[in-house]
Amino acid sequence: MAEDTIFAKIARGEMHADIVYEDDDCVAFRDIDPKAPTHVLVIPREPVSGLDDPKATPDMLGHLAHVCTKVAEKLGIAGDGYRVVVNVGRNGGQSVSHLHFHVLGGRPMTWPPG
Ligand code: AMP
Repeated sequence: MAEDTIFAKIARGEMHADIVYEDDDCVAFRDIDPKAPTHVLVIPREPVSGLDDPKATPDMLGHLAHVCTKVAEKLGIAGDGYRVVVNVGRNGGQSVSHLHFHVLGGRPMTWPPG
């Protein structure tokens, strides 16, 4: 259940996270195992299991994407560019069943991803 994930607990303030931005609808916090010098996760407060969950509305997704750009500006990685990633399901490499946008920056990214 999306309500029981670590990220749902972070969103409810029941579990610690290094929060860099929050508003009424979402929370952004540093990834515990960063894959780049700056690695932040942006999540909705509402327990939504992933990008493919019908509860992930266009409004919600638009807001999360916008917050990714705000976080990148705030953390000083916007000028050189950065990457925003959403892993979806098993083949996509999603390990936590609560929608999250990865914001990665502070180094050049390679393509294609693994
Ligand atoms: P994904 O594989 O796309 O589901 O991404 C999950 C991400 O959550 C990984 O990059 C993990 O390092 C990160 N993660 C797992 N637990 C925590 C936590 N308690 N606080 C911050 N990041 C976490």
